[in-house]
Amino acid sequence: MRVSHGTTYRGRLAPSPTGLLHLGHARTFWTAQTRASEQGGALVLRNEDLDRQRCKPEFVCAMLEDLRWFGFHWTEGPDVGGPHAPYTQSERMSLYRAAFEQLRAGGSLFSCTCSRQDVLRALQAPHQGEDEPVYPGTCRKHVSGCEPPAPNAKPSWRFRVPDGRTIHFEDGRLGPQTFLAGVDFGDFVVWRNDDLPAYQLACVVDDAAMGITEVVRGADLLASTARQLLLYEALGLPVPAFFHCPLMTDERGVRLAKRHDALSLRALRERGLSPAKLREPPG
Ligand code: GLU
Repeated sequence: MRVSHGTTYRGRLAPSPTGLLHLGHARTFWTAQTRASEQGGALVLRNEDLDRQRCKPEFVCAMLEDLRWFGFHWTEGPDVGGPHAPYTQSERMSLYRAAFEQLRAGGSLFSCTCSRQDVLRALQAPHQGEDEPVYPGTCRKHVSGCEPPAPNAKPSWRFRVPDGRTIHFEDGRLGPQTFLAGVDFGDFVVWRNDDLPAYQLACVVDDAAMGITEVVRGADLLASTARQLLLYEALGLPVPAFFHCPLMTDERGVRLAKRHDALSLRALRERGLSPAKLREPPG
């Protein structure tokens, strides 16, 4: 596995405009921004809008406005441009397709005609409680990646995980992490049957293409990081460092989600709360 040893820190904020950003997103992003500025590095804003059904232009506008209100300053992004433009995923399809073709040609994928929930959900990062069950291997017999799809069924494509392999990585906050392929997660979707890349693939392609040296994200994505490490390896891409932030929960211990409207940045702003007060977790 190639590990990037770039001297210039490059971090990223990767929101999905599927609703209003809330305080949980903002706190994770704040850690990303703080780590980038402590290192004198760059901060990239990437608009992760692959889920065309749920991503709306009005959420993109609200996202940019709310992030600026909170105090974010990105050096590259969809609104300011930069050397790795475009910074909006729906405009980067050719890169994802090239990576998909590379994986397929390398024999890492199999086509799958199972119509399962995890295919439907693959456009989004699997946040807490949304992780897919281990794939039971129904279509795994297609190992070559070259077989024709079953008649009348458009396939999705799954990454064939090396069962029993241990994936280790060092998290910048949590220390050593270990996941077992085939047990902690199974063959995951990288390309959907409606011809869209899955979150796992798009994220790896973009983090590598944009020269990201450290990925800061919520701790609920630890198992996604393990999956992504397999994609970095199969694609021969340099691996960034990882830092997984604690999740912000509501009073019942449930992770904040876009449905927690009262804690959207917009609602907090309308209630007159100051960004400076909101940035740091209480206590
Ligand atoms: N767009 C993804 C999300 O909002 C990004 C997750 C990640 O940091 O990789 O959940």
